[in-house]
Amino acid sequence: MQDHTIDMLAAGDDVQPVVAPHRQRLFIPGPTDVAAEVLAAQTAPMIGHRSDEFEALFARCEAQLQQLFETSARVYIVAASGTGLQEAAIRNLVSGRVISFVNGAFSQRWYSVASGCDKAAIRVDVPWNTAVKPEQVADALHAALADGPVDAITVVHNETSTGVMSPVAEIAATVRRISPETLVLVDAVSSFSGVRIPVDAWGIDVLLTSSQKALALPPGLAFCSVSDRALARAADVKGRGWYFDFLTLEKALKKNTTPATPAISLMRSLGVQLDRIFAEGVEARYARHARLAERTRRWAVENGFDLMAERGYASQTVTTVTNTRSISVKALNAFLARHDMEISNGYGDYKDKAFRIAHMGEVQDSDMERLFAAMNEFLAGQN
Ligand SMILES: *Cc1c(COP(=O)(O)O)cnc(C)c1O
Repeated sequence: MQDHTIDMLAAGDDVQPVVAPHRQRLFIPGPTDVAAEVLAAQTAPMIGHRSDEFEALFARCEAQLQQLFETSARVYIVAASGTGLQEAAIRNLVSGRVISFVNGAFSQRWYSVASGCDKAAIRVDVPWNTAVKPEQVADALHAALADGPVDAITVVHNETSTGVMSPVAEIAATVRRISPETLVLVDAVSSFSGVRIPVDAWGIDVLLTSSQKALALPPGLAFCSVSDRALARAADVKGRGWYFDFLTLEKALKKNTTPATPAISLMRSLGVQLDRIFAEGVEARYARHARLAERTRRWAVENGFDLMAERGYASQTVTTVTNTRSISVKALNAFLARHDMEISNGYGDYKDKAFRIAHMGEVQDSDMERLFAAMNEFLAGQN
């Protein structure tokens, strides 16, 4: 893409890449557009991963991630996508039973991961356009506890398939009150860094995310915080494997490195992006996401559409618009493509019945206005 072209000025050791200004193209819930300077960071020469330079990069990223996760515990950095850490959390922390709350495609995936790891996974279904509520968690826990202990619960903070955000603070508090030994595992793949999630304050044992959504990095890295008590639990769980074994990751982390070869180029872009996030200011970043979500919901309603998410639980990073005007989402995207932009169709059964507009990562107010101007132009050509 022209916008992301990097010009190397001249040959030599201290060439500075010249990067074109950012232009938002993707309004899909991952992968999201990556700032040019973050993309450019990947082109730096390779270094050994047992070098001082790599360890310094790792240590710096780790400290900034702890700040962003709002945790004094560790954050593991792995070369994988977010699903890898869904699997890691299960394999490290569940030897008996786990309750998986399912209110969309990604929470369903976590249930499938747990069953696929041969764990006793209890599936609790919640209607797909609604949030998981503390009362439902309480009921499910009480019912399961009648048959013995529950190692963990899994819940998705921001269901990307439906644009619904669940109240994980209240859910975590409910689990702690009813069953203090049950670990709280939370997927925040599409909300992390767009919405504040204070891990320690909320009592979340594992919070996992991946690079290519609100963090606006290329795909290929995943991150998870792990509480002290979760790490202690892992020591008693058999069959943790090796690549994602928390104990192995912990040992390497203490030396500011990873057990296996890290994705060095991606880690370089992570370093640059974390600096950019703190330069914007995390509060400003959260406020921007809230403002863009509000603007998107207003656009939808003003243009005769409905919103799919249960009222009060709409996502701050992706809005699911019910296609009440029965427009062709395919035609809309073909139109947007001519303006070098793209949105997402509804997920699975919601294809054409809904469409999704992501407003996460690098998206600025002016980008949204450019998108809505094009969408309005498309709608004006309808009926
Ligand atoms: C995208 C997504 C996933 C899957 O993440 P990958 O990085 O693609 O493995 C899991 N959960 C949620 C909520 C997501 O949005």
